[in-house]
Amino acid sequence: MDIRHNVSLREYSTMRLGGTATHLTEVNSRDELRQAAAWAEERRLPAVVIGGGSNIIWRDDGFPGLVIVNKIMGFEMRQEGHDFYITVGAGENWDSVVERAVAQGLTGVEALSLIPGTAGATPIQNVGAYGQEIARTLVSVEAYDSETRQMTTIVGEDCAFGYRTSRFKTTDRGRFFITAVMLRLTRANPEPPFYPAVQQYLVGHEIQQPTPAIIREAVIAIRRAKLPDPARVANNGSFFANPVVDQAAFNRLQATYSDLPSWPTTHGRVKLSAAWLLEQAGFKDVHDEATGMATWPTQPLVLVNERATSTTQLLAFRQKILDAVEQKFGIRLEQEPEILP
Ligand code: NAP
Repeated sequence: MDIRHNVSLREYSTMRLGGTATHLTEVNSRDELRQAAAWAEERRLPAVVIGGGSNIIWRDDGFPGLVIVNKIMGFEMRQEGHDFYITVGAGENWDSVVERAVAQGLTGVEALSLIPGTAGATPIQNVGAYGQEIARTLVSVEAYDSETRQMTTIVGEDCAFGYRTSRFKTTDRGRFFITAVMLRLTRANPEPPFYPAVQQYLVGHEIQQPTPAIIREAVIAIRRAKLPDPARVANNGSFFANPVVDQAAFNRLQATYSDLPSWPTTHGRVKLSAAWLLEQAGFKDVHDEATGMATWPTQPLVLVNERATSTTQLLAFRQKILDAVEQKFGIRLEQEPEILP
């Protein structure tokens, strides 16, 4: 095991902020992961497992323990009737997984194209985009349980998936070190309705019967046009989740804001557009002198680190947004990226 000491964590978050980790190691197999976990346990140090760093923010104090970077690879496919079961190592780049699935003509994850990060991170916040979410295709998660110190398999039904959430970021935050995910996909063409941006692409390209590959192309084109590439621009993707409110709250808001974008969800609740709330609260294409943070011109939900040098600055900018939205609409936005530790 190669353990490095006093490692800057900026390279381990696409927001490129945060202090140093006391210790950091990369693991390439389940055995190495167990060894790393044991190394930390023996020293009574906290341990955390990370993937690509695209949805995490480190505090300026850094991490006083062992950061384990998950590089466990693998891509296995098995067919059972019409279903294709794909087992993917948690350290695999998520978009490569989508690319490989789509190349086989499989549907189920094509709308999740170009989402940054690793496959193992997708269940944590139940990654979703353009009408698909990982909860719908995920069969099970394989993980090291840091409480029992055993490997375990958790089926999708037991992951407590919700809108951009799961037990892995709520009740069991930090407990399971995910080593693999199993997905169930089918060989078929994606069915409408498609999200407006995707539908527009299909109409513009005169496509009547989209294949998974075409939906992937569409999503890549839409995302490239609208979102910054985290390899070039420091960001964590959408910083806030869309709020879901009850009907009474929605009615109250709509009485004042008749153009409020909304979508019905389950249990009579209504999803609102966090991006619209931010824009209305004055955060469209904002470049904040005091903190060095900005909102991305074509998508205000993406907070961009232009010149910030500390997480404290990012959090101050976040606070300005939270307060402005709450003051105007009475809604407290939920943050998507996880702050560690
Ligand atoms: P967009 O296409 O401009 O749409 C804006 C919002 O409208 C989205 O948040 C989306 O909700 C909602 N929406 C649009 N059409 C809808 C429909 N037919 N039914 C229900 N809701 C609808 O969104 P964007 O900000 O550019 O993002 C594109 C997609 O990537 C979205 O699906 C977004 O959620 C997703 N995304 C996900 C993550 C993540 O998982 N962390 C991060 C970044 C972006 P939904 O958000 O529920 O789809």
